[in-house]
Amino acid sequence: MPLDKSALSRLADVLGKDNLWTDEPRRQCYAYDAAGGRHLPDAVALAIDEDQVAGVIRLANEKDFPVVPRGAGTGMTGGAVAVSGGLVLCLSRMDRILNIDAANLVADAEPGVVTGHFHREVEKLGLFYPPDPSSSGYSTLGGNVAECAGGPRAVKYGVTRDWVLGLRAVTGAGEVIRTGVRTAKGVVGYDLTRLLVGSEGTLAVVTGITLRLTPLPSAVRTVTAVFDRMATATAAVARVFAAGIVPRAMEFMDQASLKCAEEAIHAGLPVDAGGVLLLEVDGTATEADREAQRLAEVCREAGARQATASGGPEAKKLWEARKAISPALFRYGPHKINEDIVVPVTSIPEMVETVERLAEETGLTMVCFGHAGDGNIHFNIMLDKNDPKAFAQAGEAIRKVFEKVLSLGGTLSGEHGVGITKSPFVSMEISGPEIRLMRAVKDVFDPRGILNPGKIFPPGS
Ligand SMILES: Cc1cc2nc3c(=O)[nH]c(=O)nc-3n(C[C@H](O)[C@H](O)[C@H](O)COP(=O)(O)OP(=O)(O)OC[C@H]3O[C@@H](n4cnc5c(N)ncnc54)[C@H](O)[C@@H]3O)c2cc1C
Repeated sequence: MPLDKSALSRLADVLGKDNLWTDEPRRQCYAYDAAGGRHLPDAVALAIDEDQVAGVIRLANEKDFPVVPRGAGTGMTGGAVAVSGGLVLCLSRMDRILNIDAANLVADAEPGVVTGHFHREVEKLGLFYPPDPSSSGYSTLGGNVAECAGGPRAVKYGVTRDWVLGLRAVTGAGEVIRTGVRTAKGVVGYDLTRLLVGSEGTLAVVTGITLRLTPLPSAVRTVTAVFDRMATATAAVARVFAAGIVPRAMEFMDQASLKCAEEAIHAGLPVDAGGVLLLEVDGTATEADREAQRLAEVCREAGARQATASGGPEAKKLWEARKAISPALFRYGPHKINEDIVVPVTSIPEMVETVERLAEETGLTMVCFGHAGDGNIHFNIMLDKNDPKAFAQAGEAIRKVFEKVLSLGGTLSGEHGVGITKSPFVSMEISGPEIRLMRAVKDVFDPRGILNPGKIFPPGS
């Protein structure tokens, strides 16, 4: 149901007039996320505390309007847009780091804290929060929790869920809950924290986050391994693990992504290479140096024509280039269809070859890069969506890629979530009984279905 006048007036009472926007120019700014489709909300609320969030949710239950939680809107799957109209509830003004407890390696933060800011603040105290999605300069901790964001460092340190100890949240029914613990261990009751992490704003609005920290490694080194063929580069990933090394990051870039990253950042990437692995190790200076040398040797043995270690500003520039790939891809076409499939690392070469073959057959521009150490491939089709032939071909290619992923024992999304762009494909991976169980969980948290409707579940399920 759209927001009517009486609901808007009650919302203004809950939020204060300045925190509720109904004019079209400002609503426009909240009609998109990084998935691209336009869905104009009826209004935008900028909550400043948990009481306001709870007030909004209770009113939504009473007046029956949809509420779409939103952090920075960098999500890749349309999770933060109002597909059924209603209210976008933006958490970006709840942006305080409440406490960094160095002795207990724990921190508390509000959901609107920008992840990169959180990194810098804990690092000032010699502490480390490893999850580092490539969007960390602008995405929020709340959005990271709701999507279970990953990023390059997941190889060694895991994803967001591995660092969330507890949450405060307002359920879709309007109840304020506290989940999890502030201690290293805790097994009392079901693990509601894990259930909420990755739930894409469909069960509860996260209002507070308790995160685990670890001491900051004193040294970090980067190894750049250059390969003539993409298949050799991706086959080297399993060789690295077999050599007994778990780098903290192991990223790969195909030739097309190398070219646009280089054009954007000028980091000196080898644009003539078939594929590059960018690896990172950490520890004490001696450990990091030794491991980087060993990594370079393993990559050369696995077929790299060149493998060199670097640190300091040179390495920083290389990672800047890696992080720039996703936005830089628009050089190849006005629209991007972006998938983040995952396969076992030993199957990456076969998966990448499947994509290369599909690109050849269809003539579409397909670009692969991503988190090789996790088997997480960011597979992108760059096209003009207004070209009906290209659009239909892209849809068919995606279905074939997904079939291949599942036949290899993989999953359709490693970190970007389902949102609206992947919901039509969910039943390829999850079957009826599990979907029904998930629906039942959704109904318990959000009995009137006001929270982020139209997301995750296959249409018509
Ligand atoms: C250039 C670029 C690079 C990226 N790289 C990575 C990467 O390396 N790894 C990765 O995992 N992702 C990556 N992403 C995707 C995206 O940044 C992440 O999904 C991020 O976690 C989204 O955070 P956000 O604050 O922008 O959330 P939004 O996009 O605003 O929201 C995302 C989802 O979370 C929900 N949500 C937001 N806040 C809350 C809350 N407080 N409570 C409940 N639900 C909430 C929304 O409803 C929505 O479903 C990238 C995106 C871009 C544009």
